[in-house]
Amino acid sequence: MMIPYKHEPFTDFTSNEHADAYQTALKQVKEQLGQEYPLIINGEKVTTEQKISSYNPAKKSELVGVVSKADQELAEKAMQAAHTAFGEWQYTPAEVRADILFKAAAIIRRRKHEFSAWLTFEAGKPWNEADADTAEAIDFLEYYGRQMLAIKDGQPVESRVGEFNRYDYIPLGVGVIISPWNFPFAIMAGTTVAAVVTGNTVLLKPASTTPVVAYKFIEVLEEAGLPAGVVNYIPGSGAEVGDYLVDHKHTRFISFTGSRDVGLRINQRASVVNEGQIWIKRVIAEMGGKDTIVVDKEADLELAAQSIVKSAFGFSGQKCSACSRVVIVDEVYDEVVARVEELTKALQVGNPEDPTNYTGPVIDEAAFNKITSYIEIGKEEGRLIAGGTADQSEGYFVQPTVFADVSPEARIMKEEIFGPVVAISKASNFEEAIAIANDTEYGLTGAVISKNRTNIEYARQRFHVGNLYFNRGCTGAIVGYQPFGGFNMSGTDSKAGGPDYLQLHMQAKTTSETL
Ligand code: GLU
Repeated sequence: MMIPYKHEPFTDFTSNEHADAYQTALKQVKEQLGQEYPLIINGEKVTTEQKISSYNPAKKSELVGVVSKADQELAEKAMQAAHTAFGEWQYTPAEVRADILFKAAAIIRRRKHEFSAWLTFEAGKPWNEADADTAEAIDFLEYYGRQMLAIKDGQPVESRVGEFNRYDYIPLGVGVIISPWNFPFAIMAGTTVAAVVTGNTVLLKPASTTPVVAYKFIEVLEEAGLPAGVVNYIPGSGAEVGDYLVDHKHTRFISFTGSRDVGLRINQRASVVNEGQIWIKRVIAEMGGKDTIVVDKEADLELAAQSIVKSAFGFSGQKCSACSRVVIVDEVYDEVVARVEELTKALQVGNPEDPTNYTGPVIDEAAFNKITSYIEIGKEEGRLIAGGTADQSEGYFVQPTVFADVSPEARIMKEEIFGPVVAISKASNFEEAIAIANDTEYGLTGAVISKNRTNIEYARQRFHVGNLYFNRGCTGAIVGYQPFGGFNMSGTDSKAGGPDYLQLHMQAKTTSETL
């Protein structure tokens, strides 16, 4: 009998015991920094001459690891391995596949802080953010394992007298998983195992800034009993390896999480039928967001300010769910803005190894340059009330930045910045606030802070986002509780951690037998 799914609890670091355990994990992982990691193709370790170096974004000189880099020839080899492995894996019983996920979850749970410590070094995640990322990876394993067991015998259909009908789900084939650096464990692991537990085989191309934690995960899958060739680990450049695999005739589906532009490019390339290809490729895409918190005049204003600051600056705003826009109704505008200013100015920025730092670095130089250029744009478009400065002498640190009195038409209200920058606009009433919130090409998350039932119901219908939250922030969806995915340019609304996510990696087969 399977224990029902329940999400992995977050660690309470105010307890000395847990804080000490995290410090110990940081020390242990620090001793392992700078090692080399091969590609894994068909279960074999392949070392290449070309490498990807992963550095700590909080300390640019600190090498986290050096990873072999796939080229087209090796990508082809990995594709052949995945293609061959699919032959057996697709018929491996669902129970056996799900068990590997449960075992992997148990292994990670035992080494939880070690994994989180890797995230602190490789992605610059503060303790609580790293802990949440690891917990979410465990959740995906536990949840998708159970979901597979729930759908392994298909769905019920009617049969007439003398007939035996079945409706089953079968796997698709070889999938290309292109995963992001901002949830380098949870989303990388979740997108990989959703594909694998459903009987597909994959080529995993993790983000080039965070390949080490992905390698560590592959080791766990091997330890848990995953056969060779089912997951092939091939970090490499998007232009060289990514495009090659997206275009490949054997690629059946692509599961991508990342920027809008790359997602659209993949979608376009995937629509082309190449020589020898006999199917329409499926694309599962999780892209950007320009997510808004709306504050009503009848609202808990302290809750509003706390929710804004946490959603805007947790992990330096580098979440597609992050609050990057705030719309406040006139009557309470000044009070909420003043409190947001106060809370933001109190945030400490610095190396996330030190838990007193709330905000760590941004991921790399390109992100730093993009964010700081948007801060300059913001200075023209709004009133800077907090932050506005940045320093990349040691790591890529950007002060949490707030612009007030911004026009809804401003660029910083429209374009995804993906950093610790939030823009605030004023609305004359609640309806106008929702209209401003909807005035974007994205539609991922949103939150409404209100005590007014009519307004809450108004927003429930009209605030057009995939994940809408009331009286809380707009980040931190929990697997199996708040399935996550967005509308419009935020992606294909593939709800990760939801009851119909696995079916996106499968196709339904009807069989009808005359008795
Ligand atoms: N699922 C995360 C959240 O709810 C965001 C994922 C992302 O940024 O890609 O905050």
